Amino acid sequence: MDFELSQEEQIFIDTLSSLLEKELMPIAKDIDSNKVTTYDLFKKLGKHGFLGLLNSEKYGGANLTMKLAVLAAEQIGKNDPSLATAVLYLLDTAWSYIVEKYGKEEVVEEIIPKMARGEAFVGICSTEPTGGSDVASIRSVALKKGDNYVISGEKIYISGVKEILENDGGLVTLVKTDIEKGRRGISAIFVPLKHVKNFEYSKIENMGRMGVSTSILKFNNTEVNLRYLLGEENKGFYYAMEGFVTARILVAASCIGAAESILNYGISYIKNRVAFGMPIAKYEGIQFPLADLYSRLEASRLLIYKTAYLYDKMKENKTSMSEVTKYSAMSKLIAPQLGVEIISEVMKWLGAYGYTKEAGVEMALRGIYSYYIGAEGTPNIMRIIITRELLGREYLPYKE
Ligand SMILES: Cc1cc2nc3c(=O)[nH]c(=O)nc-3n(C[C@H](O)[C@H](O)[C@H](O)COP(=O)(O)OP(=O)(O)OC[C@H]3O[C@@H](n4cnc5c(N)ncnc54)[C@H](O)[C@@H]3O)c2cc1C
Repeated sequence: MDFELSQEEQIFIDTLSSLLEKELMPIAKDIDSNKVTTYDLFKKLGKHGFLGLLNSEKYGGANLTMKLAVLAAEQIGKNDPSLATAVLYLLDTAWSYIVEKYGKEEVVEEIIPKMARGEAFVGICSTEPTGGSDVASIRSVALKKGDNYVISGEKIYISGVKEILENDGGLVTLVKTDIEKGRRGISAIFVPLKHVKNFEYSKIENMGRMGVSTSILKFNNTEVNLRYLLGEENKGFYYAMEGFVTARILVAASCIGAAESILNYGISYIKNRVAFGMPIAKYEGIQFPLADLYSRLEASRLLIYKTAYLYDKMKENKTSMSEVTKYSAMSKLIAPQLGVEIISEVMKWLGAYGYTKEAGVEMALRGIYSYYIGAEGTPNIMRIIITRELLGREYLPYKE
């Protein structure tokens, strides 16, 4: 495994990093308090070639490795630790990749160039009010009628609906096309939300990542042209799992970026804050948790880099999807939890100041909690995936 970046890769990351320091870091608190929208910054990322990192150049993408996409996710998390910007970036990167891989040429041409310019957002629409973890049990259905699928059903906690309606784009939507079957009856249909009728949406108020919307979405016989089916009918579950594997690596990297920025802030604070005549950084009660958390942060970062390395190897057919799935789940299991621990510890170092909005630490805690509790898959589901890969499917705690 090579940690060196080529000159081109280094320039890419340095350019992104200085753009984010100049344009994102100063407005991160304003994004959290809804004074400015995240999407404006997202458009700038598109304008400067930092979207569609996993998409082909043919469609306006950057055709980069997962290694680079991970480094970019870290930088975005670092500069907006509320994670709102990272949410848009990582969903868009992962699900656009799936749209290009499985979408019909005309759909890919319609969506991906716009997305890469930041004019359209691509997200995932899987979770339903009856549950998110058990994807095979979704109830939304799509029936064929002439040239269209007619979709009905209710989805919930869907990120980016407002952003799509105000700009453009769509959602990789999981529906049953064979209701008799579980995961083998699911299809993935790209729903270009702005261009279809007969749906309702309402916003859900979350505790964190305020700059990006989360919604309930009700499809009431929503007609979507057949060309928007991704890949083959009844194989959508497997495309979705590939999307989640991709997204989870970027989630983990974003969490590490946010945690690192808060830890660095904590380090400068403890060097300056004096109590009992000494900087609090001199006390072992502060130093030892710092040493532990920093060590675990680096260990977690290395795990994510290895996962990205394996993902890139998988694309060259040099390792299996199953190996990458396991590593992606391990990264997603560890990074958000560690992020919660790091940010909570730094809040304590800051004393009362840590509890204020001004410090900008609590917005990171609220943001990272979304990934700790379960956006892109809960910790228990990550554990089930890891043990499934280690022990075999026959040890799954439920019937498939
Ligand atoms: C901020 C936010 C944004 C989101 N954005 C999106 C989005 O854009 N698109 C989308 O489709 N979804 C989205 N989600 C939903 C997310 O994918 C789901 O929350 C997640 O899949 C878990 O589903 P659930 O919340 O219904 O929990 P449930 O599936 O009901 O699980 C509840 C609890 O039971 C545990 N559990 C379930 N099964 C088992 C088991 N077999 N063994 C042990 N424990 C188990 C879970 O780990 C969890 O702790 C978002 C969620 C959040 C919080």
